[in-house]
Amino acid sequence: MYSEVCGTDVHLHHGKLDVPYPIIPGHVSVGIVAAARGQISDIDGSPIKEGDVVTFLDVHETCGHCYHCLVANQPTRCPSRRVYGITYGARDGLLGGWAEAIWMKPGVKMIRLPKGLSPETFIGGGCGLVTALHAVDLAHLRLGESVAVLGAGPVGQSIVALSALSGAGEVIAVGAPDDRLAFARRMGATHTQSLSMDAPARIDEVRALSGGRGADVVIEASGAPEAVSNALDMVRDGGRVIVCGHYTDNGPVELHPHWQINRKHVELRGCWGSQYHHFHRAVEIAARFGDRVPWAEMVSGRYGLDRAADALRAVETRSALKALIVPNQGSNTM
Ligand SMILES: [Zn+2]
Ligand SMILES: [Zn+2]
Repeated sequence: MYSEVCGTDVHLHHGKLDVPYPIIPGHVSVGIVAAARGQISDIDGSPIKEGDVVTFLDVHETCGHCYHCLVANQPTRCPSRRVYGITYGARDGLLGGWAEAIWMKPGVKMIRLPKGLSPETFIGGGCGLVTALHAVDLAHLRLGESVAVLGAGPVGQSIVALSALSGAGEVIAVGAPDDRLAFARRMGATHTQSLSMDAPARIDEVRALSGGRGADVVIEASGAPEAVSNALDMVRDGGRVIVCGHYTDNGPVELHPHWQINRKHVELRGCWGSQYHHFHRAVEIAARFGDRVPWAEMVSGRYGLDRAADALRAVETRSALKALIVPNQGSNTM
C-alpha cells in the first residue's frame, strides 16, 4: 500500500551509506498480505492471514548470540542485523518497500494494524515515530520536565508529540521552515524557535523558558553537527541530551568538554536504530493517539514508483515533510 521516503533514503540515493547497491529502497511499509504460505503468526500467536493489513520492523536477523545481542543487550549494534530497504541488494529479492510486492522472509514478525488505526496514520508517523520513541525512551522523560527538540522533520515532529503525550511541561521545537514549526505546535509544542534566530539567542530563550536553568532534556534530531553543541548549551546542569539526527556522517563539531559536559554533569546518549519493542509500541501509540496527533497529515506527497526520483527530491529540498511511495497506484501528487 505505502512505503515511506525517509531522510535515510536521500542519503542512500547519494551513496552515503555502505550498502550493496543497487538496492530496492523502502524500509517502513504497510501492505496487504497477498499470499501466505505456512504457519505465520504475530507475537501473540494469532495467525496472519491473506487480506490482513500489516506492517513489520525493517530491522531483523539480529543474531541473538553475539556480544551485543547477549551481553550488552544492544541488538541495534548486532553485526548480523539486516534491514529491509537498506542492507539488501536488489539481487537478494523483493526486500524493499518501493516495489509492487515485498517478500516477508521467514521469521520476520508482522504486526496487524489494530482496528481503528488507518494505514495512513501509521505510515504518516512511520520510521520517524519509531525513532522518536527510542529517543524519548533514552531520555527517561518525566512528567512535567521541559524538553527542547532540535529539528522539525518527521523525527523531530514525533519527538514533540511523544514528549507532550508523556506529560512534559514546556516542549520547545526548534527548526525551519516556519510551516514545520506551525505543524510542531499541532503535534504538541508549547513554544517554537526559528533558525532565523542566531544560536546564542535561541540558547538564551530556552534558558529563559526553563527558570534560567536550561531544558531538562534536549533531543537533537536535525542532523546538523552544530546542533549537538547547541544541545549541550541548552540543557540544564545534570540534564540529558540525546543525539538521534546523525544517521549519516554530517561532519565533526567542536565541543568544550569542561564547560559543556563534565562540569555540567550532562548525560549524553546516542540513539541508533530500533528494536522490535519500539516498533510494536509505535503501532500501539499510533492506534491509541492517532485521533489527536495529526500523523496522517504529515504526509504531503504521494508518488507512484515511476516518480520515486521526484519523491526523493521533495524530501531533500524539504518541500515535503513526508513523502510516500504508493507502488500500486498510478502516479499523482497530493
Ligand atoms: Zn547479534
Ligand atoms: Zn527511515
